[in-house]
Amino acid sequence: MSCWDIQPRSDRDLVGNFRSTLVFVLASLAVFSCSSIPATDTDSAQQLSELSELAKPEPSTPSSEQALSEQVVSPARTVLTVSAVGDIMLGTDFPKNHLPPENGQYLLSGVAPILRAADITFGNFEGTLLSGGEPAKQCRNPARCYVFRTPPEYVQNLLEAGFDVMSLANNHARDFGNEGRISSMSVLSQAGIQHSGLEGDFASWQVEGKSIGMIAFAPFRGANNPLEIEAAQDTIRAFKAEHDVVLVSMHMGAEGEAATRVPFEEELFHGENRGDVVLFSRAMVEAGADLVLGHGPHVPRALELYQGRLIAYSLGNFCTYYGINVRGKNGLAPILNVSLYDDGEFKSGQIISARQIRPDGPTLDPQHSAAKLMAELTRLDFPHTPLEISNQGLISIKTSTVQE
Ligand SMILES: [Zn+2]
Repeated sequence: MSCWDIQPRSDRDLVGNFRSTLVFVLASLAVFSCSSIPATDTDSAQQLSELSELAKPEPSTPSSEQALSEQVVSPARTVLTVSAVGDIMLGTDFPKNHLPPENGQYLLSGVAPILRAADITFGNFEGTLLSGGEPAKQCRNPARCYVFRTPPEYVQNLLEAGFDVMSLANNHARDFGNEGRISSMSVLSQAGIQHSGLEGDFASWQVEGKSIGMIAFAPFRGANNPLEIEAAQDTIRAFKAEHDVVLVSMHMGAEGEAATRVPFEEELFHGENRGDVVLFSRAMVEAGADLVLGHGPHVPRALELYQGRLIAYSLGNFCTYYGINVRGKNGLAPILNVSLYDDGEFKSGQIISARQIRPDGPTLDPQHSAAKLMAELTRLDFPHTPLEISNQGLISIKTSTVQE
């Protein structure tokens, strides 16, 4: 069988799964180490071998005086790698048991090697990590009850998949009121995972000697508020003064298959103001944000390069085991791998395409469906943005617009 065949999960398929994962890991490592991989449609085996070559580290000592003088004139800039995904809900035990078998240990295992390879791995935790408690929402119909409570021990699955930082700013963070949100924060903190979501709760930590900050915004009660843009800019300005790299997470925009396009205006959904994602994201970059990671629409959206910083308008769903529609584009689960210079400027990236195929978690997609959709949406919504996205998801800055 081809290593791309999508098979039901079983122990017998571990070797095949490993090979599939390896291919993507090599590809993503290559992107992390080289910004100018040509976007071609060459045979995948040949491409893999080329990518593997590119992934080899370059000699650290210059072999000639010329190389030495070049190093002195333009010292190498350190690069940080970020792996980012959208919504994660690993199962709920409320109002009745909708938890995966084996405590969900397998859900993220197919993509974990990719996520773990990055210096910073980010996701949006769409729910609560809590035992007990009282729901903050009433469910008239238990069959259509979208109140999510995940057992705290499931944090182990996030840890093993390599997550360093999670957004807790979304419309399910308060499903069990403040008690649920505080419990999620405490469970993540105890596991060593950074978080941001509650108003005033910002993530701040060190990676490779660089200070990293992340602030998660959502237009929902109690969260860092993206609708007050000037106040959010003040927060980002102050945060950037204290950090080398600042990430912004936003859970904003309308939802569903009709919501893939960026409307360039405020979006209303269920009567709620879900914000103007373009206005907000650009304002955050102007104030010092280095990478904006959007999610909330449950479908992927376009990318934009703005003032040298990457904005991902929506990463869609990633691992939503129950209660969230994963049909069609809702089932696309892109992994956005980005290389940033250590001042936060965008260097290069890759969209690695996965899909949710229940009851499995995200499964690598040999058709590159998420990448193709995001490339198409980027061409439609931001035709002048200087990004090139190949059909395999490689993201580079258009050569004609690279500044010397
Ligand atoms: Zn949401």
